[in-house]
Amino acid sequence: MTGRALVVGGGLAGCAAALELARAGHPVRLLAAGPGATAMTGGSLDVAAASPGVPHLPWRDPLRGTALATDGRLGFLLSGASLHPYTRLHGAGGRDELVAAARDAVDRLRSWLAPSQLGVEGDLGTNRLLPTAQGTLRITDHALSGPAEADLTGSSRVLIAEAPGVEGWDARGCARTLIHEIEALGLGPLPVEVVALRRPLSRGAQTAARVAARLDGPDGDRILTEALHGIGTAGEVVLLPQVVGLRRTRERLRGLATGGRRVGEVIAFPPHALAGYRLQCALDAALAAAEVEVIRARAGQVRVDGERYRVDPAAGQSFPVQEADALVLATGRFVGGGLVAGPEGVREPLLGLPLSDPEGRRVDGIPAHRSVRKGYGNPQPLYSAGVMVDEELRPVAAPGRGLWAAGEWIGGFDPARERTGLGTALITGVAAGRRAAAHLDAGAP
Ligand SMILES: Cc1cc2nc3c(=O)[nH]c(=O)nc-3n(C[C@H](O)[C@H](O)[C@H](O)COP(=O)(O)OP(=O)(O)OC[C@H]3O[C@@H](n4cnc5c(N)ncnc54)[C@H](O)[C@@H]3O)c2cc1C
Repeated sequence: MTGRALVVGGGLAGCAAALELARAGHPVRLLAAGPGATAMTGGSLDVAAASPGVPHLPWRDPLRGTALATDGRLGFLLSGASLHPYTRLHGAGGRDELVAAARDAVDRLRSWLAPSQLGVEGDLGTNRLLPTAQGTLRITDHALSGPAEADLTGSSRVLIAEAPGVEGWDARGCARTLIHEIEALGLGPLPVEVVALRRPLSRGAQTAARVAARLDGPDGDRILTEALHGIGTAGEVVLLPQVVGLRRTRERLRGLATGGRRVGEVIAFPPHALAGYRLQCALDAALAAAEVEVIRARAGQVRVDGERYRVDPAAGQSFPVQEADALVLATGRFVGGGLVAGPEGVREPLLGLPLSDPEGRRVDGIPAHRSVRKGYGNPQPLYSAGVMVDEELRPVAAPGRGLWAAGEWIGGFDPARERTGLGTALITGVAAGRRAAAHLDAGAP
């Protein structure tokens, strides 16, 4: 007889924890109030992207001046960000242990997404150069199908497709900024041009999601083939907004990669991004395939009774109280709903746990109007607010031995500046799920 496992949070961190528990043979329930940050992601999967202005996430080795990929960056992160979740988990084991854990977690993610034909391309030893819709470049390690195919590394020319009618897409603005980025980073010569598609992708003004839904229809492949006919030759990359279907994106982009050209999507942001939606759909399919029981509702409070946890429904929710011997909390931050801000300050609603910034200073209970950054260019303290954890990912101030934290809910890093968002969710989600499974295997309670 196995103890009961419960995960709260249905973003990447919660799904990863639930899927690892299920893989270990434990029946698992997952409570999810709705989409969080995972469903909004732009398209890169950053284990540790280079971040301008963050010394521990450089893209060049500060001493040698040579290019630095994520496997090297993680060494700087471990020594420069003592409260980052990666450092909490792998600070003692060092960079090689963290790199191995990241590789293993990405392999797990690939296996969950493969049945939905959503790919995770890249590796920790190579920088990928991914253009955003605004024309800036993200220097990172992994990307999801769509933006993954838009990697500029090794390309001879960038062709940015005008797609009149697709809301939020400005090919010329994207090109102008991209030219400056390429020059500023010393990546040239790499010509950038704007090209007209042979036929429109949208019917009048339409959102990216509507265009993508149309391209999922029976004529979608033909429309794309005709629109891109004769555009781009060997070595060139054609950039589109995120419109290449809500599903089968990788298959279509590969089908369009004829004559040595590549076709990919730029990294985009809500409401013009579909990468997060595709990711969330693929994760939900993986939960169903693993027979994880999903309750789509909001938890209100977690109570601790000895070694057992009881999770009450939030006001207006009607599920029965959930009991668990192993509980993983992966409720995200402000976007996900794991932290809330009000006139009385920021707070963690499920257990009322203390919240800290990356220096370990308490930030809960400080009214938002007093949580101001020290000066222009300095980090905003609330962006890094989160629950502090020990080396086992147990929240330091939480009662009991059967509770683990995962994802953005964990403090010690600022996802807006330190580009480790989905990587942190994945690596801590896998680790929390495995620890919870080991706890149950050991006979908890
Ligand atoms: C606009 C945007 C773009 C981004 N782009 C990128 C990118 O390109 N690459 C990258 O690596 N990272 C990116 N990030 C960061 C990344 O998306 C997040 O770091 C990551 O998705 C966090 O995952 P999570 O599972 O911890 O939280 P979330 O995805 O926020 O999930 C939290 C979950 O908890 C649930 N929840 C919360 N409270 C409760 C409750 N009381 N009861 C039940 N359920 C609850 C929510 O409903 C949700 O399901 C981006 C973030 C944003 C906001």
